Amino acid sequence: MEEKFIPLSVPNIKGNEIKYVTEALEAEWVSTGGAMINRFEQDIAEYVHAGGAAACQSGTAGIHMALRYLGVGAGDAVIVPALTFIAAVNPVRYEGAEPVFMDCDDSLCMDPVKLAEFFSAECEKKPDGAVYHTRTSKKIKAIVVVHIFGNMADMESITDIAAEYGVPLVEDATEALGTCYTEGRYKGRFAGTIGNIGVYSFNGNKIITTGGGGMVVSNDREALERIRYFSTQAKDDAANFIHNDIGYNYRMTNIQAAMGVAQLERLEEFIGIKKRNYLRYKAGLEGINGVELLGFRPDIRTNYWFYSVYLQNKTSKERQALIDGLAQRGIQSRPIWGLIPDQKPYAGSIEYRLEVCRKYYERVVNIPCSSNLSEADVDRVLGALKELLG
Ligand SMILES: *Cc1c(COP(=O)(O)O)cnc(C)c1O
Repeated sequence: MEEKFIPLSVPNIKGNEIKYVTEALEAEWVSTGGAMINRFEQDIAEYVHAGGAAACQSGTAGIHMALRYLGVGAGDAVIVPALTFIAAVNPVRYEGAEPVFMDCDDSLCMDPVKLAEFFSAECEKKPDGAVYHTRTSKKIKAIVVVHIFGNMADMESITDIAAEYGVPLVEDATEALGTCYTEGRYKGRFAGTIGNIGVYSFNGNKIITTGGGGMVVSNDREALERIRYFSTQAKDDAANFIHNDIGYNYRMTNIQAAMGVAQLERLEEFIGIKKRNYLRYKAGLEGINGVELLGFRPDIRTNYWFYSVYLQNKTSKERQALIDGLAQRGIQSRPIWGLIPDQKPYAGSIEYRLEVCRKYYERVVNIPCSSNLSEADVDRVLGALKELLG
């Protein structure tokens, strides 16, 4: 085949990345200190209007430190989505706690109705003021909400529920940098800045990338200070090597940050391209029966990170045939994640009425969405989809 391969989601590195990384190298600040780290933290905090930001090695490390800061530990439970990437859940286990798997609604994000139902039907408040899962006696220590594919979870409802039960909220906004409310109570607020602590990722497939990297944001300066402390080996006295807690080697390097500064300069442009391509896919798919490009909440500006094709009447075997057919035509696609409670390490975990996530788990295919994607590329993917589904 002569036609070029169209990958699912790859980096777009055509701005000031080489310039800034060269500056970092010339300054010989290559490790976990240097001006670029502070600059990247400031730039992100400013962009999302957060009180502050702490750069780290990955989104996973950011979520881990957020849970650690909140005191999650053995005997605790953390409410997490069943339909997500596993990195949103593993940190719960790193700290010896147990996940409680929650269903999604049609936004693919956590269903607030079931979340409220779970608290009222299966939990109780004890004299210590905390909320416990009645059957297992585990304390509900936090909720991790994920803004799936750049959509926004229903944060008005979810923050109300979290406040009612006094449970802190961590936002896994690793896929949703740039997504913000345009209406309602949180108008102008960005994904990641509405709960207690928010986390972004700069992995290679995310909307902007530092190769690998993450950022924790919060309006709680004490939380950020603590998380920065955890990320740098919990040094209380650097000169004398005094460590009063268990820390991690989770700080971002200056080289990664230099790349991040350049990538962030182009974020709005990337969102513009992704929006254009999303609308082109949407119009192109309208003619195909039983196929739908999933939408985003109407009251937000999404970052359009990932595109999800929903196959109404297909079996998972037919979905695989579609993925294989696209691959034969040089187009990468993939099924949505396997549900986390179905993964081996999570067998037998606590879950609550998982229904909607099973429907989407079987029927969603993600199609190419890189910000390098031209309109001609989109048309080629559309042509292949029509050929295979029409
Ligand atoms: C990418 C991602 C993460 C983890 O980010 P890394 O930087 O790769 O560690 C966590 N949660 C979700 C939902 C993600 O998509």
